[in-house]
Formats: sequence, C-alpha cells, structure tokens
Amino acid sequence: MSREAAGLYVHVPFCLTRCGYCDFNTYAGLDHLKSGYVDALAAEAEMWLDDWSGTSFVSVFFGGGTPTTLPAATLAHLLNAFRTWCELASGAEITSEANPDTVDQPYLCALLDGGVTRLSMGVQSFDPVVLESLERVHSPDSARRAFAAARSAGFADVNLDLIYGANGESLRSWCRTLEEAVSLGPEHLSCYALTVEPSTPLGRSVAAGLVPTPDADVQAEMYAATCEVLAGAGYEHYEVSNWATPGHRCIHNLGYWEGRPYVGIGAGAHSYRGGLRWWNVRPPAQYLEMVARGERPIGGEERLSDEDRRLERLLLGLRTADGVPPEWVEPDRATEFVTAGLAERRNGRLSLTDRGMFLANDVVLELG
Ligand code: SF4
Repeated sequence: MSREAAGLYVHVPFCLTRCGYCDFNTYAGLDHLKSGYVDALAAEAEMWLDDWSGTSFVSVFFGGGTPTTLPAATLAHLLNAFRTWCELASGAEITSEANPDTVDQPYLCALLDGGVTRLSMGVQSFDPVVLESLERVHSPDSARRAFAAARSAGFADVNLDLIYGANGESLRSWCRTLEEAVSLGPEHLSCYALTVEPSTPLGRSVAAGLVPTPDADVQAEMYAATCEVLAGAGYEHYEVSNWATPGHRCIHNLGYWEGRPYVGIGAGAHSYRGGLRWWNVRPPAQYLEMVARGERPIGGEERLSDEDRRLERLLLGLRTADGVPPEWVEPDRATEFVTAGLAERRNGRLSLTDRGMFLANDVVLELG
C-alpha cells in the first residue's frame, strides 16, 4: 500500500516592518518573542507526531511573515527537529520565503547547508515608485543583490514573488518589472494582482478616498501581458498566478491545489486532512501560552460537507493548467464557457484559458 504523502507548513510571523497591503498574520516589533516561538514550533511539531506517523512529507514550507528574520542556523535546527518526528521523503522540497533585505551570501550558504532547497523571494516590483506605494522596505537594488547572492550561494531553485496593479504602476512599468525578472532567470515566478483587504492600512486609505481602488481593467491587461511575456520566455503557466520552467513547479503549493493533506504549525497556521480543516490561534502570545501548557494551539475547525469538497476540488482543479475531468462540470455549462473563450477542452480535460484564469473565482462559481 502506498504511504500517505503530505506537506508541512511552518509559519514565522515576524517581519521587519508591515507592508500597507498585507493581511497575513504577521507582526513587526515582536522580536522579543522569537526564541520562545522557535521552541514552541518544535514543541508543537512533536505534538502531531503520533497523528502523522507513517506519512511521508514531500515538502516543507517556511512561510510568513519573513522566515529569514530568524538566523539561518535556527531554520536548520528546526528542520532537524522536524526530522525527528516526521519522515521527510528523499528529495523533499524544502522552501523558505525570504525578504531581500534579510539575506546575504553567507546567510544563504548557511540556509542551503542547513537543508533548505528552494528560495521564494518577495521582490514584488523592480520599480522604486511601486515599491514605495506598496510600503516595501527593500529597493530594486537589494532585490538584485539578494538574487545574485542566492545564485552564488548555490540555490538552483528560486522563485520571485511579484505584485501588479499597485497605485502608481502603469502597464509599461509592470512590463519592465517582468522583463527584468525574466532576465535574471529564476526557475519560478508568482505574479499576483494586488487585492485590497478592508482591514489593512491600504484598505482604510482606499475607503477614505486617499488611494484609488486598483483598476480591474488595467489589472486584466497586466495579467494578459504577464501570460504573454512569460510564455515567450519559456515559462509554463501551471496555476492562475504561477509560472515555472519545466521541472520546477512548486511541489508544496501543488499539494494545496491537488487536495494533498498538510499540517501547518505556528500561529494561525492552517491544516487539512480527509475533509477536516483546522487552524491555530492567530496571536503569537496566545499561541505560545497554549503550547507552553502542552495544549495543541487549535483555534477552530471545520468539517467540509460532500458538496463543499466537490466545489473545492473543482475550484482548486480549475486553478491549475491540468484542469479537471470534463464530467465534473455540467456539459451545457462547460460548452457555454468554452464558447465564451473562458475554458477549453485539452488532453481529455476541461481547463481554463488565460482569460478564464484571470476570472477564475467567478468562473468556477458559475461552473460549480
Ligand atoms: S514582508 Fe510580506 S508578510 Fe511581511 S508585512 Fe510585508 S507582505 Fe506581509
């Protein structure tokens, strides 16, 4: 019998500063919690030991927040601690997110030596005006330096995260960012449309009329340009917001889209297995208290109904280039979407076109 494959997500909620658009569970100014937090991550991992014995972990993802605000030796130490309670598959993909201002070549050498195999760098833009509008702390130059340091340290699997549609960004500026990203030659690119979350400083500025709402038509043009430029540069568009050179799709994120189980540890981390989704408490201090008491720091859980699971499989499947089996969608609806240029039948599957992918959430709700 084949063994269950799973992913491990590790949430590091510390950042140098908070970017105005960010609604992740992250904090600036909590450095005094770092050492206790690292101990708690190892302790929480151990609490899951029995539940996941016999599972082969094919990926580990240090996300956040900014994991590289922790010393490289600490991330390596955590990785070793995880190896004592779970089995990492041979060749497992081990990713760390990184902010350009937190890494240099010695740091990245130590990270690679410590077992991290893949780097995902939050670059967002190579235009200083756009970086300022996003309230990023780093400059285009520090992103260039960090990428060069990753290469000279020996990272052969690097993702760059980019964001399009910020206030002050034109289609031309976005295309220049894309071209510069391509010229660096990363194996993977994630390109996200800026979304405005009401609870963020950006959301409040938009609500107060101080900053315009991103223009959906301009973002659609930027998305179309992204598809064109990256296809021309040899990247496979394998998920709505993700492109990779052959052989470099992100195993960890593919797991989310393919319904592979995962356990998330750390403040606010989510987990999923067999139709049950659960999540940890968000405030780091509460997380630390619960783990210190020997309690699993669970904040809530949700059992998905069969209908929820069907819709979720459809939504996630259609986000990927491989699409879904055609019988998952009512035939007349599928034909309608194919005729409208939003979906296509490819290799015996139903997949979204680039235009359909830009509208993925709306399209899937209609198709479901
Ligand atoms: S660096 Fe990333 S996680 Fe941290 S505040 Fe900015 S967007 Fe959020």
